[in-house]
Amino acid sequence: MDAIGAAQVLSEIGYLLRQDPDEKFRAKAFSAAAWSLAIERPDLAALHASNELTSLEGVGAGIAKVLVEVLDTGRSRYLDRLREEMKQPARDDESAIDFAQYRGDVHSHSSWSDGKATMLEMARGAEAMGYEYLGVTDHSPRIKVVNGLNADRLLSQSREMAEVQAQVPGVALMQGIEVDILEDGALDLPDTVLELLDVVIASPHVKLRQEPAAMTERMLRAVSHPHVDVIGHPTGRRPGSREGANYDFEAVFKEAARHGVALEIDCDPARMDLSPEMARFALECGCNFAVDGDAHAPAEFSYVPMGMWLAQRAGIPQNRILNFLPLDELTDALR
Ligand SMILES: [Zn+2]
Ligand SMILES: [Zn+2]
Repeated sequence: MDAIGAAQVLSEIGYLLRQDPDEKFRAKAFSAAAWSLAIERPDLAALHASNELTSLEGVGAGIAKVLVEVLDTGRSRYLDRLREEMKQPARDDESAIDFAQYRGDVHSHSSWSDGKATMLEMARGAEAMGYEYLGVTDHSPRIKVVNGLNADRLLSQSREMAEVQAQVPGVALMQGIEVDILEDGALDLPDTVLELLDVVIASPHVKLRQEPAAMTERMLRAVSHPHVDVIGHPTGRRPGSREGANYDFEAVFKEAARHGVALEIDCDPARMDLSPEMARFALECGCNFAVDGDAHAPAEFSYVPMGMWLAQRAGIPQNRILNFLPLDELTDALR
């Protein structure tokens, strides 16, 4: 098993532990170790042979023990036990996804809104991941704390993007927005702005506790919007701390499928939204998916390889995930 495979095992353990409030710190330790493996991609077999696994960032004796078993046997009894305890056992209809074929991330942030890195740093980060394209999708204006972009700032951003594109020609930069879904399902930017952007991710961020009928109307309106390409973190949940929005998932997912709007699997370990169970249900409703890091810094691109287990557990075939499309086909899909 390679570093990414091992990172996915640790990531799933972290995810399952997160569901038990008493295991919060252990959960974070496993997620952090998974992240470090996904970033560094060390030669685990060599480190195991020389008994040096604990030299890895974030890998203490306990996590090293899990890694040893994974490297020796290809599996983890600890993970199997957690799956049973959390009533999320392995299934025999999971899919096989090869991260090496992943072409690019369509949901990321830069210092234009609440990202921690410049657009140039993010573009270089995507290049280092070997990506063919990157969607730069900063926030819309409504949430003041994230310094969201209005039409004027989007225009300035597009000028900077042209400069960055010239410096990083190997990664096709797509200008997008993560636009807020307002309480009534309208979007936080006018259509005349949205139609100019390469990728529109519509996300629920506030008022997630709306009562289900109103929330259903809100989400139905968002997925029916002609310029929306992807619904970002569709429930807004935070495993272990915040339940996601509750709505008629079947109605909304089927409507999303009908409009060709993809649902996101946001691989940020603090989100993991959709969950494996919800993603499986969305697949049955006919949806396509975007599997994204929602990266706010270049290192966070590595949330995708470590979180890809989620799409596999949901049984999603690679051809239902936008990020495996070559750029020309992606462009068509986002039209
Ligand atoms: Zn968001
Ligand atoms: Zn985001």
